[in-house]
Amino acid sequence: MSELRFNPFADQWVIIAIERATRPESFSSKEVEKAKPKDQCPFCYTYEDMTPPEVYAVPVKGKDRLPNASDWQLRVVPNKFSALSREVIPETGFMHLGSCSTTCMAFGYGAHEVIISSPDHAKSIGQLEQKQVELIVETYQKRYRVLAKDKLVEYIQIICNHGKAGGASLEHPHSQVFAMPFVPQVIKTELAHFAEHRKKHKTGLMLATIEDARKRDLVVYENDGFVVFCPFWSRMPFECWIAPKQEQARFEEMSAEQRSLFTKALRILLQRYFMKLNNPPYNYFIHTLPVQEMRDEKKAPEYHWHVECLPRLTTQAGLEFGADVFINTMVPEKAAAFLR
Ligand SMILES: [Zn+2]
Ligand SMILES: [Zn+2]
Repeated sequence: MSELRFNPFADQWVIIAIERATRPESFSSKEVEKAKPKDQCPFCYTYEDMTPPEVYAVPVKGKDRLPNASDWQLRVVPNKFSALSREVIPETGFMHLGSCSTTCMAFGYGAHEVIISSPDHAKSIGQLEQKQVELIVETYQKRYRVLAKDKLVEYIQIICNHGKAGGASLEHPHSQVFAMPFVPQVIKTELAHFAEHRKKHKTGLMLATIEDARKRDLVVYENDGFVVFCPFWSRMPFECWIAPKQEQARFEEMSAEQRSLFTKALRILLQRYFMKLNNPPYNYFIHTLPVQEMRDEKKAPEYHWHVECLPRLTTQAGLEFGADVFINTMVPEKAAAFLR
């Protein structure tokens, strides 16, 4: 017998295939991701001229550095094959958005940036030191604030793709920031469900979810500020969420102290993936309050930012695309126990 579990954030049903469920060990990534030689990697030292000019960089301490030279600790560049660009004329770009009945288009306005994790070609985020990952997270916040100043930007999505099956086209570890002129449906749905939950239950949806995760033994790790858990309705084997324990709507408002605790939680999760699942490909992404909502000062935001991490150990196909229904053959309770 399988179990149908409901994801109250995304309004989505997941089939937990208990009978087809496999032992945690059998999910270990088959395709071992090994970094290849770094010849002509545009994200390595001395190849800086292969990327578009940087928009932000942290130099190595105590070194004099010209823009786009080596000796950086972290570098942010526009994506060379940018999916979105701020070079279009917004007036003509937006006139079709939302105003027609069957076809809607707009020019691909927005920004698409790449945050190069470190000069190290081989070390993914889970293998980098605490200080370096804190710098990456601080850069997420800084770029968020800069891009949020653009009045046409409504949502900023920060993501990290790791490994070929995770969609990383360059193996040198990096994250990406997308500033978009619309709010994605998944965020709209989450916002609606957060509001509904507060109204009905007088408590936050995420706080209730964390409490429930504790009761069901779904917690993988927690510290003073953050909790890492396998959602009860996990779509994929070893899916994990990271959320602040206190309600906080906006990711970029995290203090230095919180950032350090968040970084610890993120590193521990990625290290567990690396060690226990043999360096699997994965995606993680930050869900935070839309920029649009921040601008409306009268509105008290009902949201709780979080990170969703999805190892890519199975293939999604017709049912997932056709019905937005996922079949997960790894029972989340067992996944949590395995990752603890
Ligand atoms: Zn490289
Ligand atoms: Zn979410």
